[in-house]
Amino acid sequence: MTQTPLNPGDSPLVREALNSVVSRETPTAQLPTQTDTGQGAWPRPSKCRVIAVANQKGGVGKTTTSVNIAAALSMNGERVLVVDLDPQGNASTALATEHRGDIPDVYQVLVDDLPMADIVKQVPDMPNLYCAPATIDLAGAEIELVSLVAREARLRRALTAYDALDLDYIIIDCPPSLGLLTVNALVAADEVMIPIQCEYYALEGLGQLLRNVDLIKAHLNPTLRLSTIVLTMYDGRTRLASQVADEVRAHFGDTVLNTVIPRSVRLSEAPSYGQSVMTYDPGSSGAMAYMDAAREIAHRALV
Ligand code: ADP
Ligand code: MG
Repeated sequence: MTQTPLNPGDSPLVREALNSVVSRETPTAQLPTQTDTGQGAWPRPSKCRVIAVANQKGGVGKTTTSVNIAAALSMNGERVLVVDLDPQGNASTALATEHRGDIPDVYQVLVDDLPMADIVKQVPDMPNLYCAPATIDLAGAEIELVSLVAREARLRRALTAYDALDLDYIIIDCPPSLGLLTVNALVAADEVMIPIQCEYYALEGLGQLLRNVDLIKAHLNPTLRLSTIVLTMYDGRTRLASQVADEVRAHFGDTVLNTVIPRSVRLSEAPSYGQSVMTYDPGSSGAMAYMDAAREIAHRALV
């Protein structure tokens, strides 16, 4: 574990956002067990990787990242479950998974102890991709969880009991808050992936998120680690976007994926067709970027 240095050249915003960060770990790169030649499947992890996609800011690309990384992994031979942990159910929508009020959903898993197997659905036309949907009921869970036993570990417990699908990845799409739903995701996960939007306030609040990750690591889930930062909505025409990207890379080094996700209107259109961009428009810049990002993730094994 190493200290996070603050560079003298950092902008005040970056310093403020990061000065409370006590520790960071850099992922150790591991040689892939199978090289990605464009043919054949990507290496499957030796055990299921549970990745929480978190950032308490809304609109930074959590859902878009969760859905498209999951789709890209599944199209390359990985077996992937997306857990929709946002009451808005945007990931469920994008994966064409029903999430009307009367559909059994993550709420019932967390609050009523329904087995995960009772809510997981296969995503249409995506043989290796599954979704645990969220309905609007989940909005109540934030409050109802408070009085339950082991309230922080309900999702972890449900996922541990669920091994029906021989999964390689579980990707948890978190809501835009640091409440009990996100805490449940961080307790259930091995890895945190943080999407950062390449704009001026991008780093605001990041210190708080990282402090929470450290607290959960210290008290509830010692194996949790910040494994991945993905830069989203990158607009190559603006200097600001490249400045933000440079600052994030200066602090987080190898944790940041080499692939940057560009702004792409196809990414925002795809959900209304109940598709990831990977099938909606595989040749678009957004789809190609998420494919590259997923390839990087698949080849960065945990030690
Ligand atoms: P979050 O889950 O963090 O709230 P979303 O993934 O829902 O963020 O993204 C917020 C909005 O921005 C959505 O309308 C989404 O379609 C759009 N969006 C996300 N990423 C991109 C991108 N790279 N280019 C264009 N639009 C994007
Ligand atoms: Mg979302």
